[in-house]
Amino acid sequence: MTHVMVTGGSRGIGKAICKKFAANGFKVSYIYKNNPGPTGINLFPVQCDVSDSVQVSEAVSKAQEEFGDIDILISNSGISYMGLATDFDFNDYHQIMDTNFGGLFNTTNAVIPSMIHRKKGVIIAISSMWGQTGASCEALYSASKGAVDSYVKSLAKELAPSGIRVNAVSPGCIDTDMMSGFTKDIKEELRNETPLGRLGQPEDIAETVFYLASDSASYITGQIIGVNGGFLI
Ligand code: NDP
Repeated sequence: MTHVMVTGGSRGIGKAICKKFAANGFKVSYIYKNNPGPTGINLFPVQCDVSDSVQVSEAVSKAQEEFGDIDILISNSGISYMGLATDFDFNDYHQIMDTNFGGLFNTTNAVIPSMIHRKKGVIIAISSMWGQTGASCEALYSASKGAVDSYVKSLAKELAPSGIRVNAVSPGCIDTDMMSGFTKDIKEELRNETPLGRLGQPEDIAETVFYLASDSASYITGQIIGVNGGFLI
């Protein structure tokens, strides 16, 4: 049975991705940092900080002992800080870069050798539309997602000869805990700015990820797929 690993599977978008794959008969291991998430017969939670390469390789080994080699990696875990660029220091820089970009770097390095050996695999990173266009008061976050996009494109070129596809899904405004700091008015503004007239739901992202991971997307690699209700066109 196919093994999919999801980072940040305990909440929000990652949780919806775990549920989608588990409901479709996949074996799903997922990484969380503090809060254990969904449980079930095809779900295997592993606690790990994705910014720590040693913890990541231990987590990948545990997941592989449980469900075998990882066929599909979804690098989804992420954090965001809001504020003026000058509000942040080098510690904040490391927190955000090491989680959002370092998490992708660490997890891909841990799974790529076995994918290359088997000459197949799918890697999908959850990026952000702000990585493409830049967000005021989320400069560090935007930069970390810009790094994710460049890395995805580079990996796609490097790994295509080994039969591995690499893509990113780039969400718009998705109603999860990550938006919990936003007031009702700001959420309403974002809704109004979205041509399709609503905030996204985690399931909107999970559906796209599921498609990209499937053989129906076998000719798609190196792409940053926007799922943003038309916010960024
Ligand atoms: P949530 O805040 O709801 O969930 C974040 C998830 O990441 C949690 O499972 C959390 O684990 C995990 N996580 C955070 N830091 C670490 C870490 N160091 N190690 C391991 N796991 C970690 O976020 P969303 O679901 O909204 O976001 C998911 C992804 O989508 C992120 O990459 C985000 O940047 C991106 N995104 C979200 C948008 C939105 O509007 N919501 C828009 C664009 C992109 P735990 O529960 O244990 O804390």
